[in-house]
Formats: sequence, structure tokens, C-alpha cells
Amino acid sequence: MASNCLFCRIAAGDIPSSAVYSDDEIYAFRDINPAAPQHILVIPRRHIQSLADAEPEDAAVLGRLLGCARTIAEQQGFAQTGFRSVFNTGVDGGQTVGHLHLHLLAGRAMHWPPG
Ligand code: AMP
Ligand code: ZN
Repeated sequence: MASNCLFCRIAAGDIPSSAVYSDDEIYAFRDINPAAPQHILVIPRRHIQSLADAEPEDAAVLGRLLGCARTIAEQQGFAQTGFRSVFNTGVDGGQTVGHLHLHLLAGRAMHWPPG
């Protein structure tokens, strides 16, 4: 774990969060500043800086991340009504935390194109 990384510390339980899903590879928790009625962050426990830094050997954990997102959507009851899934990457992508995370947004109609 990267001890200076906020999301590594959240996944390790060093910093409190509102857990939604947890297994040996993936952790999901509620965003502290929600942009929709439901706003969940899904992260790999292992530190990966961003999607741009993902390596071929990360393919399995990225696949699991998406599978968990689908499971969470079912469990939270927004799989049928729909949801937005976003990876912000790098400066232009608006990434502010340097640990790969998937935003799951639901509970209202989303707009396109995003800001
Ligand atoms: P991004 O801007 O795509 O890097 O997303 C980072 C997200 O992390 C933002 O939506 C923040 O609101 C959220 N965030 C920052 N600190 C925390 C925290 N301690 N607990 C939960 N979510 C957080
Ligand atoms: Zn990290």
C-alpha cells in the first residue's frame, strides 16, 4: 500500500469511510461529496495510479472492478433505472485522487456531454 495515498488508506481502514462493498481485491464506499443521490467509488485495493498507468497484468483486477460495479448497482437498486460509470484520468480528465477509482452515479437523470 502507498501510505501517502488517501484511497490506499481508506481501503486499509486507516481512514473511515462508508463501505458499500468489500472483498480481497475490491473496495467500494460512498463519495464524501456526492454529485448525485447515489455516488459510490469503486477501487482496487492494490495501488494503481490511474487508468493511464494500468498495465496488461492489471486486466484481471480491472475486470473484477467492473463486475463489482454491476453487483453494487444490483444491490443498491439502480441497475434497472440506470447509472453513470466514470473514470476520471489525469489533469484534463479531472482526476484529483491519484488512485484509480470508478465513480458510480445514480438516482437522477444524467446529462451528456459531461462538463
Ligand atoms: P476524482 O476527482 O475523479 O479524482 O474523484 C475523487 C473523489 O473522491 C471526489 O468525488 C471526492 O469527493 C472523493 N473523496 C475525496 N476524499 C474522500 C474521502 N475521504 N471519502 C470519500 N470520498 C472522498
Ligand atoms: Zn493508493
